[in-house]
Amino acid sequence: MRDLTSMNRFFVSKDSFRGDKVLLGKDQAHQIHSVLRLRPADRIIVLDNAGWEYQISLAKVTGEQVVGEVLQKQKAVGEPSVQITLFQSLLTRDKFEWVLQKCTEVGVSRFVPVITQRALVRETAIKPEKLDRWQRIITEAAEQSHRGLIPDLLPPVSFEEILPDLRDFERCLIAWEPAEGRFDPVQPDGVGSDQTGLRPVALREALRTDKQTAPGTVAVLVGPEGGFTEQEVQLARAASAVPVGLGPRILRTETAAIIATTLILHELGQMEG
Ligand code: SAH
Repeated sequence: MRDLTSMNRFFVSKDSFRGDKVLLGKDQAHQIHSVLRLRPADRIIVLDNAGWEYQISLAKVTGEQVVGEVLQKQKAVGEPSVQITLFQSLLTRDKFEWVLQKCTEVGVSRFVPVITQRALVRETAIKPEKLDRWQRIITEAAEQSHRGLIPDLLPPVSFEEILPDLRDFERCLIAWEPAEGRFDPVQPDGVGSDQTGLRPVALREALRTDKQTAPGTVAVLVGPEGGFTEQEVQLARAASAVPVGLGPRILRTETAAIIATTLILHELGQMEG
């Protein structure tokens, strides 16, 4: 018998449950029957995306429909205790899909595509089939990485539109890489005279809290291939965001998204075990 951690996992809608049975539709039935070649009596895990997971014994398996019997129900694990919302500048297709997949694996809870001044992709009206593809990438990454919930994906919004929302988070960070010479040199007395107030702080510093408990919600903004403009960083800062550095090297945007979210989770003790 395969152990729990090796069983295939599928998120299903609540209306898939019929008493102690669960019905999986065409797409998942095709994967179970024809790709995974599972058969009656094999076991899978299904998750209701409401915090529960169910161990299922397959009863009927065809390429069109799968029926299983619920053997046991337990709390879905795999979610970090901090909810990270990644405000990711819209990127060209492969890069953006890479961010969705990798940051789902890492533990991001919500994705907000943002149209920034230098974004190469500027469409707010994303075609339904593209949104469906993005949703599928996130769902499959959540199943593969044993997430307990599927991260949310919001429709693209402009940079200005997200500013009022930034205060809703216990912590809000904007990943900001200082260009050379942008800041006054540190004076001999060691005190930097950063006139712009944009000097990025260390992420650990930005997450420090005097409360015993770590922040429950963190927003992090990551810029496009061409970076944020100074004006955007000023606006974000005025809306409670703290500019943070991700090291002295300049990361590609898709790298920065993964590094920033991983460092936040690590700093808040969510990458142990
Ligand atoms: N200005 C960069 C391009 C932007 S990198 C260049 O000269 O090539 C894309 C995004 O990744 C930036 O907007 C920023 O949000 C993030 N980023 C990259 N490296 C970073 C670093 N060392 N510190 C903080 N953020 C960084």
